[in-house]
Amino acid sequence: MHNTFELVINWHFTEACNYACDFCFAKWDKQGRKELFHDECLTDKLLDEVFELKTILENEQNTKFDGVRLNLVGGEIFLYKAKAIHIIKRAKSYGFRVSAITNGSRLDAELLSLIAENLDWIGFSVDSTNHKTNLIIGRSEKNKVMDTDKVCSDIHALRKLNTEIDIKINTVVNSNNFNEDLSGFIRDVNPSKWKVFKVLPSQGYASTITDTMFSVFLDKHSDFKSIIASEDNNEMMDSYIMVDPLGRFFQNSNLTDGYVYSHPIVEIGVKKALSQINFSFNKFLGRYNINEKLIDTVPRFT
Ligand code: SF4
Repeated sequence: MHNTFELVINWHFTEACNYACDFCFAKWDKQGRKELFHDECLTDKLLDEVFELKTILENEQNTKFDGVRLNLVGGEIFLYKAKAIHIIKRAKSYGFRVSAITNGSRLDAELLSLIAENLDWIGFSVDSTNHKTNLIIGRSEKNKVMDTDKVCSDIHALRKLNTEIDIKINTVVNSNNFNEDLSGFIRDVNPSKWKVFKVLPSQGYASTITDTMFSVFLDKHSDFKSIIASEDNNEMMDSYIMVDPLGRFFQNSNLTDGYVYSHPIVEIGVKKALSQINFSFNKFLGRYNINEKLIDTVPRFT
């Protein structure tokens, strides 16, 4: 195998979030332990270790990556602004490309500049532009409901600061939004990719939908076919490199029984930790199309 492509490591550095979405998947078995990012020395050690994965996989798989990307995911990563800034700057200094997924609620002028200067792309989680729907879904904080107009204006501001920045949107289709029309919003923010997920049954009975309901949403947005991406559960299994808030690799290879975890990477080293989970390099490769461009690297979080 002699592909050239990017190695992507998704670090869910916190499960804390100011929202409480019904179908939130960002829950890990932390056994009462503190999330690793609170300790900057351990954070730097973790970044150092996972950067090594590039060389390790290149040697093991006889392949060549054209870079390593750290994709920051939560929870809501910008709840801890100073720590998020540290992680982004440190990752850049180590040579990572950086991207992130956010619910957009905490972005301010300083963070917009940071994102514009340091991130290749940023994904926003938006399920609905309807106030009531967002309230029902749980995209609200003390009754302050997600403001999708602010998301739009932040995206425009980011593009002014960096014309090259890539914008993505993540939407979870569920019983509350399957009939809604997000066309106006999508046209306005003009993302390069719109990741549309069907809510999983295990993500809460209240919001589960049928395939037909999912199709209603997709049909309504057929104008955006070229940017919509989705994947089934089998494709999801074993194919992401994911690190949890305690700095362990984890896999959702058995969705009904929760996650499988490695030991903490900073304790046993990245190579040993990776060997403890069921990572499939072939499925990872399946994320690249024939042009060797990444099809998708965003797990269904936030
Ligand atoms: S789905 Fe995202 S925005 Fe909603 S509670 Fe979970 S982490 Fe927060």
